[in-house]
Amino acid sequence: MTSAARAPARPLALFDIDGTLLVAGDPDHIPCLEEALSEVFDRPVTLDGVPLGGNQELAIAREAARRAGVGDDEIDALLPEVMTELGRRFLERVGDRRHRLLPGAPAAVAALAGAGWDLGLLSGGARAVSLAKMRAAGLADHFPFGAFGDDHEDRAALVPVALSAGTAHHGGHHSPDRTVLVGDTPRDVDAALRAGCGVVAVATGRFGVAELAGHGAQVVLADLSDAAEVVAACAAALPRPAA
Ligand SMILES: [Mg+2]
Repeated sequence: MTSAARAPARPLALFDIDGTLLVAGDPDHIPCLEEALSEVFDRPVTLDGVPLGGNQELAIAREAARRAGVGDDEIDALLPEVMTELGRRFLERVGDRRHRLLPGAPAAVAALAGAGWDLGLLSGGARAVSLAKMRAAGLADHFPFGAFGDDHEDRAALVPVALSAGTAHHGGHHSPDRTVLVGDTPRDVDAALRAGCGVVAVATGRFGVAELAGHGAQVVLADLSDAAEVVAACAAALPRPAA
């Protein structure tokens, strides 16, 4: 075995978007999804009462369609069309999102990259919407790959998708025990733990520090405002530290 083959994978941080990098509640996201659902299923569909925080776009769309009386077969057949229509509408409407960046997010992301971390996205939002938000916030260059809410309805199942995308992008190898999820909801924490990753929870969404810690987050930050603290927190949360 060569030393290169034994070299530990570079550490990877996978960032959630809404409530973690950007203020949750994008003004165009929900309206675009409701419009896409209503058009494709040819009836009024709303997201009223559907759990959103930390949930996957596919799962949100399925639940909203069910509540509007659409059958599962029709949902299965037409969800891809809903995602396409959602992306088309959001790209038409999205403007500058830099004012929605959470405190310290750009500096924290840059500090991680500077400290030798690879960076990707693990977002419940659909791919087209998530990438558009990052472009509009000026962060797209930091996140060359990711896994998204139209890849799978289960958040934990997004982790191997993101690891494969990262491995393909970097030509190296990413593994769960050298990966940390950064997110703002118990669903992020649960996904990380089920996938064998570390987790850094941030209390910039709807959940407080104690609540996130109570769900099993090993490291919880009030926010991303101290870049050095974010780098240290991610290193502390890695299941397998550097040799
Ligand atoms: Mg979130």
